[in-house]
Amino acid sequence: ILSQKTALVTGSTSGIGLAIARGLAGQGANVVINGFGKPEDIERERAALESEFGVKALYSDADMSKPEAIAGMVATAEQTFGSVDVLVNNAGIQFVSPIEDFPLEKWDQIIAINLCSAFHTMRAAIPGMKARGWGRIINTASAHSLVASPFKSAYVSAKHGIAGLTKTAALELATHKITVNCISPGYVWTPLVEHQIPDTMKARNLTKDQVINDVLLAAQPTKEFVTVEQIAALAVFLCSDAASQITGANLPVDGGWTAQ
Ligand code: NAD
Repeated sequence: ILSQKTALVTGSTSGIGLAIARGLAGQGANVVINGFGKPEDIERERAALESEFGVKALYSDADMSKPEAIAGMVATAEQTFGSVDVLVNNAGIQFVSPIEDFPLEKWDQIIAINLCSAFHTMRAAIPGMKARGWGRIINTASAHSLVASPFKSAYVSAKHGIAGLTKTAALELATHKITVNCISPGYVWTPLVEHQIPDTMKARNLTKDQVINDVLLAAQPTKEFVTVEQIAALAVFLCSDAASQITGANLPVDGGWTAQ
């Protein structure tokens, strides 16, 4: 469904973003991947996209906390492939701490990467989408765009912000055949979740098993982690013609978490 189209997925060297990039490449889109990691790992993933799916894949090392780098990434994508038709704002980081101890630089970094970067990518990519009369913007929000948890002030603020940005953009672009939605995963087993376990153990004085079962999966009625492939499948659906009337939506994939 995406041949002759280009998808740019921020934060796609790992986890959910990589699965979305692979899902979109599987539909024939050329892809721009972005994020950090070991150069050899990133090159392996980039080359695999090309060899497995027969598409072109470009890697951008743009830092999603830097507005100029973000504009440069979108410009490079458009110059290389001729367009950015599908924009997935997925880069995100987490930090867990009580508000009164929350490091100022961590607050600024999370708001920049998890929220502001989506504004900057959209600002750069929307003119081209409007000119071509088609676009899909998908933001990876979170169950934390709908509900809160203690000790995640910056993350919850950024994710509630992305939900509002999604609605606003959907309204602005509604007559341009450009849909804007967010996907709100519950707990997905990725490096982001794995890495917050030690800090949660410290903040709540719990063991690793207690954090997994009593904190993370406690919120999720199915008692199972969501898979990255399940998130990617919804992103692919949102790019289809069947989804052309879904816009401004915040779609939870959270095992029932936000039904409570
Ligand atoms: P992850 O750590 O596996 O992936 C994060 C990606 O973002 C990586 O590619 C990383 O290199 C990239 N990244 C980090 N900082 C960056 C920066 N400054 N510039 C560019 N790229 C940067 O995490 P994930 O779990 O796959 O998370 C992806 C998104 O999904 C995030 O927005 C996260 O908030 C959201 N999310 C995750 C879960 C979960 O349970 N894993 C749940 C809800 C929402």
